[in-house]
Amino acid sequence: MGMIRLKNVSKYYYSKGIIASGISKVNLDLDSGEFVVITGESGSGKSTLLNVISGLDTYEEGEMYIEGNETSHFTASDFEAYRQQYISCIFQSFNLVSSYTVYQNVALAMQIDGCEPAEIRQKVNDIIKKVGLYEFRNRKVSKLSGGQKQRVAIARALAKDTKILVADEPTGNLDSESAEGIVDLLTDISSDKLVIVVTHNYEQFRDHATRIIKMHDGKIVEDTGAGAIHNVKEEAPAYGHRSSRTEHRAKKDSITYGTQLKLGVRNTFNLPAKFILLLLVFIFVVAAVSAQYVTVKKQKDTVAEEGWNNFFMNYDPKRIVVEKQDRTPFTKADYEALENAPHVEKFIREDILYDSSVYIENDTFSFYGYVLSISNLDREPDLGRMPKADDEVVLSGYNDGWTFGDKPEDLIGKTYTVATDGGFEQNIKVAGIIFMENEGETDSAYTESSMIYFSEKAIAEIRKGLYASNSTTTMLINGSEETLYVGQGGLVVNDNVPEGYILLPTSYDSLFKKGYAAGNEVLLRTKALYYDQELTLMIMGTYGEKTFEKKTGLENLADHDGEIYINPMDFRRLYEKGSFQASVFVDDTKNTEGMKDMLERGGYHVLVLKDHINNFMNEEIVSIIQLPMAVIVCLAVFFIAYFVIRLILKSRGVYFATVRMLGMGKEPARRIMRVELILDCMIAYALFILFIYLNRIGIVNSEKLMDHLTYLTLRDYIILAIILIVMAVLISGRFMRSIFRSSAMGTYREEA
Ligand code: ADP
Ligand code: MG
Repeated sequence: MGMIRLKNVSKYYYSKGIIASGISKVNLDLDSGEFVVITGESGSGKSTLLNVISGLDTYEEGEMYIEGNETSHFTASDFEAYRQQYISCIFQSFNLVSSYTVYQNVALAMQIDGCEPAEIRQKVNDIIKKVGLYEFRNRKVSKLSGGQKQRVAIARALAKDTKILVADEPTGNLDSESAEGIVDLLTDISSDKLVIVVTHNYEQFRDHATRIIKMHDGKIVEDTGAGAIHNVKEEAPAYGHRSSRTEHRAKKDSITYGTQLKLGVRNTFNLPAKFILLLLVFIFVVAAVSAQYVTVKKQKDTVAEEGWNNFFMNYDPKRIVVEKQDRTPFTKADYEALENAPHVEKFIREDILYDSSVYIENDTFSFYGYVLSISNLDREPDLGRMPKADDEVVLSGYNDGWTFGDKPEDLIGKTYTVATDGGFEQNIKVAGIIFMENEGETDSAYTESSMIYFSEKAIAEIRKGLYASNSTTTMLINGSEETLYVGQGGLVVNDNVPEGYILLPTSYDSLFKKGYAAGNEVLLRTKALYYDQELTLMIMGTYGEKTFEKKTGLENLADHDGEIYINPMDFRRLYEKGSFQASVFVDDTKNTEGMKDMLERGGYHVLVLKDHINNFMNEEIVSIIQLPMAVIVCLAVFFIAYFVIRLILKSRGVYFATVRMLGMGKEPARRIMRVELILDCMIAYALFILFIYLNRIGIVNSEKLMDHLTYLTLRDYIILAIILIVMAVLISGRFMRSIFRSSAMGTYREEA
């Protein structure tokens, strides 16, 4: 049985409703060692016969056998496998990759077969020498003459090293001298292969062919020399190890991942004009997608500026509440570090007081405002002066006629009482007044509040009162525990009680067997939001109706019924604690994420207020409108990019037809394309990031653009990169689908 046998094979072409016969009822037996020349006038079916034999075209009738196996049931991928294993093609139009060098073109055939790099290097160089192109091996094919190109095509066919070599008009474009060289080469090759050559120039081959087939009107009309085979068939193989290689080949893996990557990278850069065009398209894609991304993000921030928070009344979108992760109070060093950190516009040390407003009042005036430290005062008062003593404050509010009354200047220097939650009172004096500017309707609620600026010392007092009234204090006495109210009628300070002692009402005596409590210990335990404190005190005694005034220095027991007295120092041990909560204000909400990251790394718990707000135009509505808009725009960008890229990469169609002809499958081809587009896309992205960087360091300067771009954090850059890579993958997928829709031959025909 021969290598190829055709039995009554017919092939029809269908185009525009017309059926044309390519070949009809062809019977043929071909074997290894033959040098077959097919001739005939134009349109006689030579190419069709060759394409059927080489599996590039299907046939409709009859049966073709390959080494005895039927092929009528073959699928496209069966024929692809057949071509990869058996067929090397040489075309009139060469079908080389013109942007590759001679060496690269020849090596490509072996790379697609997954050969070892060392093997490729040696064999490719041998073959290039054989076809006489060694000195041109690093020259791009586009710079070669027609004869040289045809020799490259033959070299490539040799590199593929298959049992069958087909050539369609291999000398058609060559001058007679080059043609002669090609004929000699083919003759040489045919010693151990089946070589089939189609030509209408039979003269050139007459002296070399072992067999001549003449066609007319799709039929074989003459077949001479069948059986007259070269006598060198078995001995002296052209390339030494060849017969064993043929066995070996079938088991060989296809193209390696490394080669796919390498080809993808090479394709990216080997046509500079194309590379730059693609890059421009991707820069457009990167710009459009990032602009959409920023728009969505920015919109969310804009919404945050219109909200409020029920717990942190003094809401500001720039405000970030922090506490230390180890839950210890802030130290001076903490404050300094935070106050001087980049992008900190304002720092509120006493955050827990910032949301609690206090009243100051006397007989003629009262004022209600949030508590701030004098250190937050950034300008001279409009009336009066800066505070000098610890008991002096500055008021800040609108001069609207009722906040400060008709004559604000009259308030200066007067004494007022500060009343805080726990009934703790301090006397303070107003040193100065600041008139806040009325910024009109657009200004949102959070800036409209009045403020009172206190000294650090006064604030410590207010804070002590706040802790005392907002904590739970229990007293454990002789095994029984009770909760104490702090303030009048409960736990109270008294200077008459020595440090370390506690004075109780006489009712507590009954808790003890002997009938008196004095000399026993009690344990006071305070649980506050941020700290726990225990204190053991000795009962100095109890007071009754008669002893009350003497022991406490107070009058009128009826007003002090049930009170428990401790020394002011012990009271401070329980309640005079530092500040555990502060607020950082960022200079711009777009820096919020960065600030949050920095604070978390610096050992703080962080609450970003603008992420916990209520507002009328909630974020979901923004997502419902804005996000689909962004997606639609991105899709539009995707399709625009796809069509432009398809135009730019038109010649890639021929490239992929060529590699398919050399036996590359769909998947590796797709991956090569993917590498190219991802690489292009990532270079565009890198340029984009470089541009941002230049903007940051001030070389490029576009305020508006900057405002847009600084919204992006590291996470956003990663997300953007992923979006872009996905787009590149999808575009390459679409592109490859459109290429693989037509057969390799079809792609060539289209191009021709
Ligand atoms: P040759 O190579 O000898 O010039 P072909 O094999 O190309 O001949 O063509 C044989 C016949 O098939 C011709 O009649 C030609 O018109 C027809 N034919 C070839 N290719 C196609 C095609 N793609 N579509 C329609 N008819 C075709
Ligand atoms: Mg032809």
